[in-house]
Amino acid sequence: MKPGDMHPETLLAQAGGAVDMASGGVVPPIQPSTTFLRGPDYQPVNPANTYARDHNDAVRQAEAVLTRLERGHDALVFPSGMAAIAALFRAVPGGARVIVQSGIYWGTTKWIREFCARRQVVMSEVDASDAGALDAACAQGPAALIWVETPSNPWLKIVDIARATKAAQSCGALLAVDSTAASPILSNPLNLGADVVMHSTTKVINGHSDVLGGVLVTRAPGEMWDAIVNDRAGAGAVMGPFEAWLLLRGMRTLDVRVRRMCDNALKTARFLEDHPRVEAVWYPGLESHPQHVLAREQMPGGQGFLMSFLLRGTREEALQVAGKMQVFHRATSLGGVESLVEHRHTIEPHTGIPENLLRLSVGIENSADLIADLGQALGQ
Ligand SMILES: *Cc1c(COP(=O)(O)O)cnc(C)c1O
Repeated sequence: MKPGDMHPETLLAQAGGAVDMASGGVVPPIQPSTTFLRGPDYQPVNPANTYARDHNDAVRQAEAVLTRLERGHDALVFPSGMAAIAALFRAVPGGARVIVQSGIYWGTTKWIREFCARRQVVMSEVDASDAGALDAACAQGPAALIWVETPSNPWLKIVDIARATKAAQSCGALLAVDSTAASPILSNPLNLGADVVMHSTTKVINGHSDVLGGVLVTRAPGEMWDAIVNDRAGAGAVMGPFEAWLLLRGMRTLDVRVRRMCDNALKTARFLEDHPRVEAVWYPGLESHPQHVLAREQMPGGQGFLMSFLLRGTREEALQVAGKMQVFHRATSLGGVESLVEHRHTIEPHTGIPENLLRLSVGIENSADLIADLGQALGQ
């Protein structure tokens, strides 16, 4: 069977591909060499490899898996999610306009704002989960790039990617989607017409909270993509071979992890929704989510592992609930096998995030243990 004919589960289980014929190992080897031999004719011994800033087998293997998972044309991995985002925005010409979704991952907003100010790029911030508002932003004039994040973190809003594609076409922009909180298992934005999909592979794709990384996958070749490829090789924001190998190793279980996490998340969300101390639960898998129908269409395999809930009470009471948790770890980040709880207002008090909000990233533990932990922390 050709790799292109395999289902994602099979592709992932064997991520990195073939056995290592030199040793007979069934996992890919790590080649840490920064430089590669040339023969007496001065031609590279292996034409694919001359120097590690441009060429590394483990990096290429990870990129091949991610390209096929997202059904794209090509992928580039970076040493962090933010490095991937920065590489994309550096390809926007000075003086151009970008349209950026409001209320997304704070690190992204902060970096893009500073970058645009420095580079005379005009930045329009808009709630892109409201299709009318996005259309209106596009009607203001041409743009080079539209950046959306779905589901958004920590507000859990859903952007209609097919609609956003049309909006992007109307103003001549490329559409880029941060799909970190969905994963390639639940959503494939390129299939819906997006031009570029980005993931922080630090999160669920690696899934073990032990390696930073990011990826851009493009739907088609093009000038902007060439500029990004050239910039990565030249500026050197490359992932090292050990990290790429860990990423491949993490990806082997991606499908089963995401399915268990979605299952646990839905049970957790239902428990919270019924709890008298909980004012609201924001989880796209709940019928009460205002965009539940869209979320199910766009993420048919499950609506993710990330949720926020509002406690009936004060900031101090929300912190007390988080403080009592024993199974959920109190830490930032998301998408790992271990469940995490976070009081976002402590981290980003200036973004309008409610003081009584707790964000959960649900892991692969037994759901009864997660629910019991929440129950004891909330007081049954
Ligand atoms: C974590 C995250 C990023 C940034 O990725 P890093 O790997 O931490 O640099 C970007 N977008 C979203 C949605 C994230 O969760």
